[in-house]
Amino acid sequence: MPLSVLEEVRDELVCYPGAGASIMEISHRDKRFVDLLHEAQATLRQLLGISDDYEVLFLQGGAALQFSMIPANLLRGTGKTAQYLLTGSWGKKAIKEAKKEGDALSIYDAGETNYDRLPAAGDYQVADDAAYLYYCSNETIQGVQFTDEPACPDSVPLVSDASSDFLCRPLDISKYGLLYACAQKNAGPAGVTVAIVRKDLLQRSPADLPGYLNYNNHAEADSEWNTPPTFAIYVLGKIAKWLRDDIGGLDAMLQQNQQKSQTLYQVIDQSNGFYRGHAQTEARSLMNVTFNLPNDDLQASFIAEAAKHDLAALKGHRSVGGIRASIYNAMPVEGVNTLASFMKDFAKANG
Ligand code: PLP
Repeated sequence: MPLSVLEEVRDELVCYPGAGASIMEISHRDKRFVDLLHEAQATLRQLLGISDDYEVLFLQGGAALQFSMIPANLLRGTGKTAQYLLTGSWGKKAIKEAKKEGDALSIYDAGETNYDRLPAAGDYQVADDAAYLYYCSNETIQGVQFTDEPACPDSVPLVSDASSDFLCRPLDISKYGLLYACAQKNAGPAGVTVAIVRKDLLQRSPADLPGYLNYNNHAEADSEWNTPPTFAIYVLGKIAKWLRDDIGGLDAMLQQNQQKSQTLYQVIDQSNGFYRGHAQTEARSLMNVTFNLPNDDLQASFIAEAAKHDLAALKGHRSVGGIRASIYNAMPVEGVNTLASFMKDFAKANG
């Protein structure tokens, strides 16, 4: 989280200005909270240029509930097939849930190379009548990120799990049928998930879905079908404003993210093979830099030594091993520079 936002939240925690109470103590129906919710939606619309053709919903259940809500609303009962591009662990989890709701088919799976790449042109074919094409724009565990939206026929809604790269760069939302992201990487605390849904797709939702699972209920009730995660929405609104006012918008955020990730990839590429990047060069993520060291002992010693420099949370996920440096929006350039110099020193001493 950006330090300035944390400090603002700290200052307002006990008494939200004008409310005489904490934001956590006022009702979600209170005008002051409803105004905050609307402001958060409006700032997201402004940052991403989201048109009135889309709903901006604040939901609960994390990104994981979207693995089920998407097929429940957009696939169930259509007689169509949902098609999935699998470029990492989160896409795999998503299709597993989708199969419980209907016919979900993987049309590209990079599992053979342990999800180190993206599909090249011609690697997959989307059926013109597919219910939707699903992909994960940034596979957090493998550190594999799409630079552009994957090719998809106009007749097929594109659905994206943008949980770990939401707000890291500008996007053309008009290319999507639905884009969602849990907040806890770039957009706020855990507890709220943003779903940007093209309004015409809402007609697909079967009427007999459990109430919470039906997007229409959230759209009609303006994300207050039940008590929304008020504190998380309040912080998300502040982060959206930080991006707009302090960073200068998503183009500026992208520039910073490119600079930060390049700094680390350069160290990897100039290490004479001491560090080996997991993702292929064209698939490298701006958010999660994944790499391996020559052996497990060196990896353990890298993590232990890094901790002495206050560099934490570097252990890679067990499915990939090695190191994962997550450098989300809020990670300052100086933090990345510290890691880069540590990596150079460590390679010099141990290479
Ligand atoms: N999708 C992606 C790309 C993620 O990175 C994560 C969590 O790290 C998830 C889905 C799951 O999110 P949640 O724990 O909010 O369900």
